[in-house]
Amino acid sequence: MTAAPITHPDFAAITRNLTRRIDALCLLTEVPGTIQRTFLSSVAAELLRELSAWASELGLHAWVDTAGNWHAELPCADPQAPTFIIGSHLDTVPDGGKYDGLLGVVLGLVLAGELKKACAAPPYRLEVLGFTEEEGVRFGVPFIGSLSALGQAEELLDLTDSQGVSVRQAMQNFGLDDSRLLKATLEGPHLGFLEFHIEQGPVLEAAGQSLGVVEALVGHHRLKVSFTGRANHAGTTPMHLRQDALMAAAEWMLAAERLALDTPGLVATVGRIQVFPGASNVIPGRAELSLDLRHQDDGLRASKLAELEAALQSIGARRRVGVKAEVLTVIPAVPLDTSLRAGLHAAAAQAGLNPPELVSGAGHDAMIMARAMPAAMLFLRTPGGLSHHPDEAVADTDVAAALQVAWSFLLNLGLPDLGGQA
Ligand SMILES: [Zn+2]
Repeated sequence: MTAAPITHPDFAAITRNLTRRIDALCLLTEVPGTIQRTFLSSVAAELLRELSAWASELGLHAWVDTAGNWHAELPCADPQAPTFIIGSHLDTVPDGGKYDGLLGVVLGLVLAGELKKACAAPPYRLEVLGFTEEEGVRFGVPFIGSLSALGQAEELLDLTDSQGVSVRQAMQNFGLDDSRLLKATLEGPHLGFLEFHIEQGPVLEAAGQSLGVVEALVGHHRLKVSFTGRANHAGTTPMHLRQDALMAAAEWMLAAERLALDTPGLVATVGRIQVFPGASNVIPGRAELSLDLRHQDDGLRASKLAELEAALQSIGARRRVGVKAEVLTVIPAVPLDTSLRAGLHAAAAQAGLNPPELVSGAGHDAMIMARAMPAAMLFLRTPGGLSHHPDEAVADTDVAAALQVAWSFLLNLGLPDLGGQA
């Protein structure tokens, strides 16, 4: 760290400029009047050019890797120094918002620019990373950008989009060498990865907090649950003689809701239900539904699932309805790095803030990066909890607060007395 005093940036002014520039970048879209940037589209290429031009204004070197991920760097005087990465994704969902992903990349870029301007010399190389793909819109598989950055994008080249175009062809059309998708791998020792992201949920707003430190990204179980009773005439079959599959499903769904309400952090969702034969005058003979069960604690989630399976058996036996629960997918939770989280809290305290810790119910690039290095996330309050929507917003004061926390975090990082890891 340099001994010279470091000028404190004007975060309010930086925020005003940054949000103006995000507005302008979001005019680059595949569908006029909406915001849409999908993986390896011509619009994505234009965005990379604009970001590189911005980096060059800030005196930073920028480049695009062999997977189409965008990078900018603030070098370190010591060529052996480890790298710290700030990153998020550059793609959007169709008719998406301005801040999901792009905000995290832009915050990293302006922070690198401010560090350079202030002649701050952190004992690490700072890299800003814009992942080319995270949402899974074009090829149905998310996290292609971060997976390729870790060399874990095998078997993705032959995926095809709705037009029958493969990843391989799309890379060629984009001007990338498709034989080098896996060569985008990050090199050298890494101190860690930090992702700024809007919360995309209502927790921070309800708590009256501008920022939150992400403790973990939830894991989930997804199930298909079937109820098999007996279809019969709706007029002639007395209530006590029925084997109504849908009523059994309804009782079990309410049991799942009760269990989730009674278990802090547990969320249970039945997002789809089908009823057979599906006529208004026929008692349902069969019902099939989906259950999405999420919690940050894999063991607790598994034990709550066992309780739901026991309730399923008991409801089925009492109602003389056959029941079956099939687990389709299990995704483990990803805890984020305790040392980086402590660093974010220390930096927030320096800014007079006390952000709560919260769990991310959605997946993010940070959970992929956590496979290879310490990873952390800082959430920004999302007005109305609204995201993946054109009205997605963020308050300037919250962006300025995030910049201030990150600024102190980056200056502290690597200093042993403040939780750094160098
Ligand atoms: Zn996102």
